[in-house]
Amino acid sequence: MALSNPLFDAIRSNSDVDPPQIEESIDVGELINDPAQTAPKPAEILSSVRDLLDCPVCLNPMYPPIHQCSNGHTICTDCKPRVHNRCPTCRHELGNIRCLALEKVASSFALPCKYKAFGCIGIYPYYDKSEHESQCSYRPYNCPYAGSQCSIVGDISYLVNHLKEDHKVDMHNGSTFNHRYVKSNPHEVENATWMLTVFSCYGQYFCLHFETFQLGAAPVYIAFLRFMGDDSEAKKYSYSLEVGGNGRKMVWQGVPRSIRESHSNIRDSFDGLIIQRNMALFFSGGDRKELKLRVTGRIWKEQ
Ligand SMILES: [Zn+2]
Ligand SMILES: [Zn+2]
Ligand SMILES: [Zn+2]
Ligand SMILES: [Zn+2]
Repeated sequence: MALSNPLFDAIRSNSDVDPPQIEESIDVGELINDPAQTAPKPAEILSSVRDLLDCPVCLNPMYPPIHQCSNGHTICTDCKPRVHNRCPTCRHELGNIRCLALEKVASSFALPCKYKAFGCIGIYPYYDKSEHESQCSYRPYNCPYAGSQCSIVGDISYLVNHLKEDHKVDMHNGSTFNHRYVKSNPHEVENATWMLTVFSCYGQYFCLHFETFQLGAAPVYIAFLRFMGDDSEAKKYSYSLEVGGNGRKMVWQGVPRSIRESHSNIRDSFDGLIIQRNMALFFSGGDRKELKLRVTGRIWKEQ
């Protein structure tokens, strides 16, 4: 029904639409008392009533206040201001009528979490469901790759595979590492790329980020570790990083941050080993022609 209505499609894709005249209208009664179905099963009735709780315009579940026109067509709070006070179904003035009956019906529903396919077995009252879903530990993660806008989401094993296959990220087994970063022109900070290495240890995955950014006017290097999992798990680990050369050394000890947090958030909070460019050039040997950094590190589990 709503899916094939061109007006609703137009409203979905435009933020501001004046609805044209539409002859066909949705009659809620027809959905429940379809004469073709002489004896609908209880499950079918339940699912038809549930469909009524989806906004006919944006198709999202409706939450109070649910609005309706004087003919009884419903619309969600988000869509209401976008239709110029005209019911998109019958063009009657929308006014300010709450659909209390539907709000009450909704409160009697318990629905599975939308991340059921990811393993969540929770069933929640209609009005508590979206709050749970915003915090559900089964909700998929965003791709932790920092370099480009990547819209891939998934669980950890899916993302590890995606990093390997699509971003060609280096994968390492073990809790210690020893990396060399070499850059031929250390003055071109904008061109110096970020790097990502994924470590697998303790049955978990960690992302080591190494990159340049501007700290005020000063170009700096930063290295930090992210945990591929939730924050509560991330806190059970610690890591250390050491960078040095040419008789100098810097050491950092930290706690990995969850990939639930955006990469740039963590970087901008300076929660990692920050190396001033001058220091980095000392480490590299001091001829200022090449950046050569040796970063060693270790990840361990706190008892
Ligand atoms: Zn809507
Ligand atoms: Zn209407
Ligand atoms: Zn859930
Ligand atoms: Zn990606």
